[in-house]
Amino acid sequence: MGNLEKRIQQLKQRRPGYKDILDFYQKVKETQDRTKASLKIDPIKLKKEWKELLAKQGFSLIKKEDFSLDIEASAGLFQALCKISKEANLHMAEQEEKIQTMIEKKKIDLKKLLKEGLKEERIEKVADEFGLDKEVLLFLVQNSIRPSIEAGREQLRSEVNSETWLKGYCPICGSFPSLSLLKEEVGKRYLLCSYCGYQWRTDRISCPFCNNKEQGSLQYFYGEGEETYRIDLCDKCHQYIKMIDLRNVGESDFILEDLATLHLDILASQKGYKRSVPNPWAA
Ligand SMILES: [Zn+2]
Ligand SMILES: [Zn+2]
Repeated sequence: MGNLEKRIQQLKQRRPGYKDILDFYQKVKETQDRTKASLKIDPIKLKKEWKELLAKQGFSLIKKEDFSLDIEASAGLFQALCKISKEANLHMAEQEEKIQTMIEKKKIDLKKLLKEGLKEERIEKVADEFGLDKEVLLFLVQNSIRPSIEAGREQLRSEVNSETWLKGYCPICGSFPSLSLLKEEVGKRYLLCSYCGYQWRTDRISCPFCNNKEQGSLQYFYGEGEETYRIDLCDKCHQYIKMIDLRNVGESDFILEDLATLHLDILASQKGYKRSVPNPWAA
């Protein structure tokens, strides 16, 4: 049994209500990992002369739309994810059927759609145009291009310094974090990019979204009996970020850990706080 499978078993035992979504996640992740093995992406071009200046002024290395994609591999993955989704639930099955019909009738050009996946607004527009569920379409597209994005991140890793950036957004692609992570015995805090998955260090006490550092307006709560997961709330911007203490779970699959603690997101939302980057699996 692989690590992913083992962890999913553990989580299912602890929280049986998550069984279906965890099974779904496992299938998606395994399919993505298979795609990763044969991925071919072009080198991402950097404007070297600007690099240092941009970093000094707090700009990220590239923008989301600058990532290179392996479109063939992404299209194959899209079809595979559609198949998995079809079996996941009725709503996904309905959406999948609509999407396939649009592709067959050539109303949706899949490869073009995937390229546009780099810009969320474009996907939303396509969903509107064809009466599709935005969340489902975005989920399928983003999970299809994810292996390419992650490969791009690895290409650019050596261009940035994870320890000195310290800002609330990703030094590689400029996106906001989806999670924060506590690591090492001293509890160094890192942020995890919601888009490319890069991790960079940040202050222990601060809100990544509005840069608030005042202790009085930053609160937190834990999951019941779960010291591993914490929700950090900011009373200035009324947003929150989930923190995973990796000292308890080790280098786990963060998307999985996030997914298995959606009850904490519900609690935070009931308290009136918003998640800056919505969990795509929650839809
Ligand atoms: Zn990023
Ligand atoms: Zn804030």
